[in-house]
Formats: sequence, C-alpha cells, structure tokens
Amino acid sequence: MKLQYLGTAAAEGFPGIFCACKACENARKKGGKNIRTRSQAIINDELLIDFPADTYFHVLTYGLDFKKIRHCIITHPHSDHFYPADFEMREAAYAVVTDNIPLTIYGTETVKKETDKMINEYNLSNEARIESVLVKPFSEFTAGKYRITPLPANHAAELQPVVYIISDGISTMLYAHDTGIFEDNVWSWLSESGIKFNFVSVDCTGGMLTGWRSGHLGLDTCREFRDMLENTGTADSGTVFCLNHFSHNGIADYDKMLTEAAKYGFDVSYDGKTVHF
Ligand SMILES: [Zn+2]
Ligand SMILES: [Zn+2]
Ligand SMILES: [Zn+2]
Repeated sequence: MKLQYLGTAAAEGFPGIFCACKACENARKKGGKNIRTRSQAIINDELLIDFPADTYFHVLTYGLDFKKIRHCIITHPHSDHFYPADFEMREAAYAVVTDNIPLTIYGTETVKKETDKMINEYNLSNEARIESVLVKPFSEFTAGKYRITPLPANHAAELQPVVYIISDGISTMLYAHDTGIFEDNVWSWLSESGIKFNFVSVDCTGGMLTGWRSGHLGLDTCREFRDMLENTGTADSGTVFCLNHFSHNGIADYDKMLTEAAKYGFDVSYDGKTVHF
C-alpha cells in the first residue's frame, strides 16, 4: 500500500491561522516541512481519509483527480477532519459528472447525519453524486478493494470518533487520528484480532509535551501506545510507526521532532510525505 499525507496539522494549522506564538513564527520563517495543513491522507491515490477545509488546497497542491475518488472514510466531525460544506460543490450547478458513480462518505452517526443533511439540501442523490454509509465500531466493512474496521477513539466521545484499520489483503495499517490511549475494550479486541500492522500512523498532537493520554498523544505517550500495541501482538519490530497531527503547542518544529522521534524509532509526517508498506 501507499499512503500519502496531504495535511498533518491539528485543527488550527501549523502555523496557526491567527497565532503569534514562537513556534508559529518559527514555522512561518522556516517554511518547507514546518508548514502543516489540516488533517487528510490518501491511500493508493484512491481511498481518501478525512475531508477538512484544506481539501481543495490538497487537490491543487498534489494534483489529485477527485473525479475518480469513490470512497472517503471520516474519523470524526471536528472541522480539521470534516468540512461537509464543500459537498455542495458536487451539486449539478457546480460539478459536471461523467458517470453515475457516487463519492461515498463513510462515518459514524454524527458524520452520517451531517452528510445526509448536505445530500438532502443540495439534491446530491440526484445522479448519485454523494452517498453516505453508516459505520460501526468493531464492524468490518468494504470500500472498493479495502477491508476497513473502525475502532472507538479516545477523543471527544460525544462525536463518536473512530480510528481505522485498513487492509488491501496484502498490507494492513492503523490510522490513529485523533485519539489518546485506547480504552480497555479496544486493547482486548486487538489482542483477539490476529491482525499484524505493517504501518501505524499515531496521533502526536502534544509533540514534546508530556503526559497526554486522553484525547491526543505526545511523543512520550506515543511510546506507551506503541508498547501497548505490541503487547496485543498486532505490532512488532517490523511495524513502521509514523507520528502525525502536530499542534504548535508541541514546542518542536519538524527538524527537532524528527531528531527526538528518531531516538525511539519513530518516523515523522510532513505534508506531502509518501510511505510504502
Ligand atoms: Zn484533529
Ligand atoms: Zn502558535
Ligand atoms: Zn479531533
């Protein structure tokens, strides 16, 4: 599988849109890999993960052909992961479609509800422009050629957030954004699953800050998370871990984060980074 990170920041972007802190000023000055847009990734140029407000920028920057994208899985409805207002741009007045194959949006009830609202308001079921599919934690579903299992995230619980296990039958990955340390039932499920991850993308919103266990993780708790995953038997020394979803609060810029993460065998994401596994 190939995963490309399109956006690797937390909600405010990095630098933060309105922020004058040292980390944001440093990112503006240094540019390059220190500029992070809102959270999105794509697998094999066809399976989209999340749909933030920066989606249009990602389409232009990475030359993505969204006419061909059929499946988009959504982790949760925080705006840095889900910006359904742009679904309107697939309505008849704004998008010529050459076939009746929809873009299918997969998510838990909160995501489905907001997607359905847009479908109804903008007549998006006409010519099969957008469809919604309800997904449930621990229930595997199929999107194109991918088998996908949502797991409950430790993150704003009222939004029914999930992380995703994604497999193409050859490789398997875990996309763990946004989440803190999983609840016990998730670790138990993983222990019983028989899954082996080739690649894990881990939440590192807290960067160098310590003790982040709930909602998000930081570098120190990413190590705990990896240890716990290894204890379930789903990861081992052959599993590649990449830290992702950074906030300006985390103190470190890209180079600093890369150095610190490398001490513990972690890779670090940047906008546009591609990994093969
Ligand atoms: Zn987020
Ligand atoms: Zn800042
Ligand atoms: Zn979130």
